[in-house]
Amino acid sequence: MKFGTKAIHAGVEPDPTTGAIMTPIYQTSTYVQRSPGDHKGYEYSRSHNPTRTALQNALAELENGQHGLCYASGMAAIDGIIRMLKPGDEVISTNDLYGGSYRIFTKIFQDYGLKFHFTDMSDLNNVESLVNENTRMIWVETPTNPLLNIIDIKGCAEVAKKHNLLLVADNTFATPFLQNPLDLGADIVMHSLTKYMAGHSDVVMGAAIVKDDELHKKLAFIQNACGSVPGPQDCFLVLRGIKTLHVRMERHCENGRAVAQYLKNHPKVEKVMWPGLPDHPSHHIAKEQMRSYGGMISFVLKGDQMDDAIKVLERFKYFTLAESLGGVESLCGHPASMTHASIPSEERQKAGLSDSLIRLSVGIEDIEDLLADLEQAIG
Ligand SMILES: *Cc1c(COP(=O)(O)O)cnc(C)c1O
Repeated sequence: MKFGTKAIHAGVEPDPTTGAIMTPIYQTSTYVQRSPGDHKGYEYSRSHNPTRTALQNALAELENGQHGLCYASGMAAIDGIIRMLKPGDEVISTNDLYGGSYRIFTKIFQDYGLKFHFTDMSDLNNVESLVNENTRMIWVETPTNPLLNIIDIKGCAEVAKKHNLLLVADNTFATPFLQNPLDLGADIVMHSLTKYMAGHSDVVMGAAIVKDDELHKKLAFIQNACGSVPGPQDCFLVLRGIKTLHVRMERHCENGRAVAQYLKNHPKVEKVMWPGLPDHPSHHIAKEQMRSYGGMISFVLKGDQMDDAIKVLERFKYFTLAESLGGVESLCGHPASMTHASIPSEERQKAGLSDSLIRLSVGIEDIEDLLADLEQAIG
């Protein structure tokens, strides 16, 4: 099956009892047993739910994995993955990481005796130099949020294999339409399904997808023991969302290119970050590991004044100021005061997160309207 066919058909079967073409919302907490242990594979909805099973199977196929697990949020998925580690274990990650991931690593798990290293992963020597006998995991996010840096997943996988480490890839920005980390050697793909996968800004959910049976067992055990599961109605919404993932992503990419080119030529714009631009520092890696470049763009204004950025954000008509990304509607954000406010200012500057940096999630509206909105807002 090609990608679009998979997005529509993978994991879902018409309902065997009624023929309903859409997977029903199995709004039930428990399942009848005819005799103790004699059931149809479902005992209790923390462990399994048929709507969730359909979504998990669809996700596994889209990411070329064997098993999918859906969580109550992207953060819950990260939580479930990190819980595989023990006090004393170390994780190497990027210094340009989603703010929530940075927060759970440093404000929650560090207190449980885990150690996290943040480095510029665009140079794999930085990664390898941090490996020691306590290292267990490499955590990659690519493209990164919000600087749109690209990390070489295959290169990280080589380092991980050499030192027997788990490689986790947060594939939220790229989606399986643009990039399949398992094919590039990652052990676990993690998603905030809240973003492009669900695609309509109406649900919060996360996922982990793996090939390995043992790894799946471990993650499923932790999830069932700790309980961070999504409800069946939310699973239904994500299932519906991914049926149009390929069509939406094509338009996101197309609009993303037009917006990036527009900003690139704008006299008031200092810098544009979009992996599809030939002068992006890791464009060559993006070209290797991604099928196209997506609709996430960051840019910095000339003079780098926070006030100027705030004025632009207030003037936008279609780019709505809001946290989150990946929905059909265009959104804009100001990482320094919003998503990345939890990162200390000093760390932010060190990682290249300027005060006037504006992040756009370019939606799938008509491009003429989006460009006109940028024109009036930036002036
Ligand atoms: C949003 C996001 C998360 C967290 O997911 P939630 O669904 O908001 O809990 C993790 N990683 C990235 C890259 C994200 O954008």
